[in-house]
Amino acid sequence: MVRAIVGANWGDEGKGKITDMLAQDSDIIVRFQGGSNAGHTIINNYGRFALHLLPSGVFYGHTTSIIGNGVALNIPYLIKEIRSLVEQGVPEPKVLVSNRAQILMPYHILFDEYEEERLGGKSFGSTKSGIAPFYSDKYAKIGFQVSELFDEAALKEKVVRVCQMKNVMLEHLYHKPAIDPEELYKTLLEYRDMIAPYVCDVSAYLHEALKEGKRVLLEGQLGSLKDPDHGIYPMVTSSSTLAAYGAIGAGIPPYEIKDIITVVKAYSSAVGAGAFVSEIFGDEAEELRKRGGDKGEYGATTGRPRRVGWFDAVASRYGCRIQGATEAALTVLDVLGYLDEIPVCTGYEIDGKVVKDFPVTVELEKAKPVLTKLPGWKCDIRGIKKYEDLPQACRDYIEFIEKEIQTPVTMVSNGPGRDEIIYRNK
Ligand code: GDP
Repeated sequence: MVRAIVGANWGDEGKGKITDMLAQDSDIIVRFQGGSNAGHTIINNYGRFALHLLPSGVFYGHTTSIIGNGVALNIPYLIKEIRSLVEQGVPEPKVLVSNRAQILMPYHILFDEYEEERLGGKSFGSTKSGIAPFYSDKYAKIGFQVSELFDEAALKEKVVRVCQMKNVMLEHLYHKPAIDPEELYKTLLEYRDMIAPYVCDVSAYLHEALKEGKRVLLEGQLGSLKDPDHGIYPMVTSSSTLAAYGAIGAGIPPYEIKDIITVVKAYSSAVGAGAFVSEIFGDEAEELRKRGGDKGEYGATTGRPRRVGWFDAVASRYGCRIQGATEAALTVLDVLGYLDEIPVCTGYEIDGKVVKDFPVTVELEKAKPVLTKLPGWKCDIRGIKKYEDLPQACRDYIEFIEKEIQTPVTMVSNGPGRDEIIYRNK
């Protein structure tokens, strides 16, 4: 049985917390896309953690954590992350890395930095983790699979060939120092030794595990609106953030994914550039930002203040649809307890017309939010365990959102902790 946990919005919906929670009754948790460019914040009995590359299920002794072939694998980063967990008292996790995962090279990070510098004010707001250059190379077929580290002669030859191309760009486009192929080759041999204990034919492993009835979780990074095909292109990430890609990025049949738990945030937040229709500014935004998440809305990877706004029903409905959501987890609802009235964006006004369907980017840039105001509940809902015990106005807000997103809200998260969750029947 495979379940996917994915985001309906722009990321930071709280997928980490839901994964950490559901990992308790899972056997295997798989990261299937992205890299160390976004983080999941998890608060559990071991402390507070910002994970970037490891799946959020690494805290249990019984789970296997997998880095699938779809991930941008930063090898030293992964090793550092494993080590830092152990240093903080978490038992050594069982980690497997796909032999088909591609390696995030030191030059991917440099190219990311150089390109942002070159674009200046027109930059994409990259986290400079090398993700865009990595996926560009993967599809240009000049990436390096983990398996290639184990054939020294072929590796050396390929390093020389790739450096020739990279160095032309470095010299003529960016005016930066060239890469020394010999040095890069040595770095890759170090990477090989670091990753060797974890390497596995992940697709075959999952095939066997599923035959044995093991429970698998696929953990997505970012959300629907950052998907390169269905999101706010070009202000998107470079790998698919959709549950459907979980099949490819983990190496399992698509029909195995039975449940698509789509995490929907009770208000909006986004990092980086791009149209954000329900965005708010000034004091109103600062108040929400300060109260948001578990420590305010500041990026887990970059510490950058996140852009914030009201719940966007147009974007979230689309976000759920494009994920193929079978159920929704509504998160960070507790944060909204301070408001007298809670605005929700229920339509986009584009060229004088109100639309309900999420538009393509060129139209989106012109959209203005149509807001509907719902009454606030004016109290702290943390600690509440039963749906019936939530204030009426709060349940009304949840049920309003449920109707808008056309997906059953089966979980309501009312705090960052592992146990701060209210289950509802479908
Ligand atoms: P992810 O990338 O989707 O895993 O999300 P992040 O970890 O970046 O962002 C979610 C933030 O919200 C983290 O700081 C979480 O600890 C926090 N969080 C998650 N669920 C809740 C919740 O229900 N209430 C509150 N107050 N914070 C939450």
